[in-house]
Formats: sequence, structure tokens, C-alpha cells
Amino acid sequence: MTGTRDARVVAGNGRRFVVETADGARFTCLTATRDVQAVCGDQVKVDGTDDPRIVSVSPRRSLFSKADGRGRAVPAAANLDQVFMVLAPVPGPELFLMDKYLAAIDGMKIAAGIVLNKMDLVDEDDDGGLGRRLAYLGSLGYPVYRTDTRGGAGLESFAAALKGHDSMLVGQSGVGKSSLLNALVPSADHRIDELSAATDEGRHTTTSTTLHPLPGGGALVDSPGVRDLELVVRDPTDIGPLFRDIHAISRDCRFANCLHLQEPGCAVKEAVEKEKLPRSRYTSYKWLMTTMQQAKDRKFD
Ligand code: GDP
Ligand code: ZN
Repeated sequence: MTGTRDARVVAGNGRRFVVETADGARFTCLTATRDVQAVCGDQVKVDGTDDPRIVSVSPRRSLFSKADGRGRAVPAAANLDQVFMVLAPVPGPELFLMDKYLAAIDGMKIAAGIVLNKMDLVDEDDDGGLGRRLAYLGSLGYPVYRTDTRGGAGLESFAAALKGHDSMLVGQSGVGKSSLLNALVPSADHRIDELSAATDEGRHTTTSTTLHPLPGGGALVDSPGVRDLELVVRDPTDIGPLFRDIHAISRDCRFANCLHLQEPGCAVKEAVEKEKLPRSRYTSYKWLMTTMQQAKDRKFD
């Protein structure tokens, strides 16, 4: 039989993929040539039945990248609508990571949201300022959900936010991403076993990014290897716009190209002094600027 079929990549690991057609048929395939580069979530055309091959990838509405061991951005999932940064009181959230993740997701032009999981462990009277920070991030337009995967609180409203969209969870190890996945996708464990058997060829740990259809429509994409989110920026001046608060305040800086470091008349630095911008947000911004600038200035010696 000839003729191409439309399918979606539901698991991928470099060059071996599992695709699913609209009628639910699922099979393993490779890409036809090196030029065809697919990732989980891609809409593709598949040719052949005995040895099916991905022959083309449809234009993507978004591309989510993660960092490899050397800090380079590697495409991991296509066509995501939203990415949720998962936090927990234990292990405690790192402010710099939170700010960097949110900036990175904004940089990928994907809607970012926040999930505070293990809400059962939050001590309302002594949360170290976490509640205040989440309210602040909420005011910047990041939706905030609170969940407890053990007791079940908050799962229903988070599930409603996922419904009909393709989403992904990112965050430090131990915050409860797998627990959330299992709570929201009843058959997730089974599916991971099955898909990783097809793509990982006998490896013991799952490295494949996998797409799990949600009961009410939409999907949750799970990427076990999300070590870090790389900022997709070509120039340090691209970082300011990724901090929504800093970007808004920067309209009042004296210079349009102000980097908010040493420039006179900087509204951002003034906002920090007047406690209108949390100092830690500015510190995160400065750290990112410094690392980007150093990477850019590095020359062969
Ligand atoms: P991951 O590394 O982000 O995938 O985190 P896991 O899902 O493996 O969870 C790490 C640990 O936190 C496990 O021991 C879970 O049982 C526990 N955990 C997950 N969700 C909750 C929660 O809502 N409340 C509490 N108290 N523990 C949780
Ligand atoms: Zn400035």
C-alpha cells in the first residue's frame, strides 16, 4: 500500500518515534531522511506500512527546548499551548530558577503557568514568603494553581485548566510532576512502559518525551529529561522583555536601550529602591544578564 497518512508523534527519542493516527493506530517508525527532524507532539506525514517512515513535519505553533549537558538548547516537544512550572514547599523553590523558568517559557512564546503542589505541606503562617511571591507572579499574569496529589485537593480545577490544551509540566526533581501526571492521566504508567519499550530499546530509564491524551481532551506531555530550561535569546537585550515586570517598568528608563545595570535614570533600579519591584526579581535578571554577557564575550584565546 502507498499513500501518506497523517499522524502525531506521541513518543520520541532522537530518531525512533511512536506515532498515532487519528483512528488510534499506533506504530514505531524512523524518519525518512536526516532532514526530517521530528519531536514529540509534531504533526507528521508517514509513508509506507511495512517499514513506515516520517516523511514530513507540519509547521509548528510552538517549540519547547530543553538544555543538554552542555547547556545547549535541544528541541523536545512541539505544539505545546502551555507549560506549568511545578513548585513545592519541599524541596523548597529556588527563586532564581523560578524566574529563569518563567522567562524561558515566555521566550518560547508558550503560555506559562504555576502549580504549587504539596499544598498539604504548606504552613500558612510560616511559608517563607512563598504565598506572597505567588500572588505577585499571579499579578504579572501567570495563573497559579495549588494541588495536593495525595489528598486530591485542587486537582479538579487544575484538570480544567489542562482540558483541551497540550501542556507540559517542568520543575525541580521531587516536586511531584510524576505524581501529578499519574493523578491526571489514569493510565500514564502503563503508557510510559509501553512507549519506552518501543523507543528506548531496552534501556532501564525512560528518556523519551511522551504525550498522554487527557480524559477530557488535550494532552499532557512528559519529558523526564528536562534538566533545565535554556533561555532562547540571541542577545542580552532580549532578556529584559522576558521579565514581564521589568519590561513594563523599563518604559520609564531614560534610555530606550537601558539594560538596567549601570545606566543613569534607570526606572528599574529606582523601582527596586522604592520596593515596587522585588529585589530578588532584579537579582535574577542581573544573574541572567551576567551569564549571557559572559557567554557572548567569550572568545578563543
Ligand atoms: P517528580 O520528581 O517531580 O516527578 O516528583 P514525584 O512525583 O516523584 O514526587 C516526589 C515525592 O513527593 C514522592 O514521594 C511523592 O509521593 C511526594 N508527593 C507528590 N505529590 C505530593 C503532594 O501533593 N503532597 C505530599 N505531601 N507529597 C507529595
Ligand atoms: Zn533601566
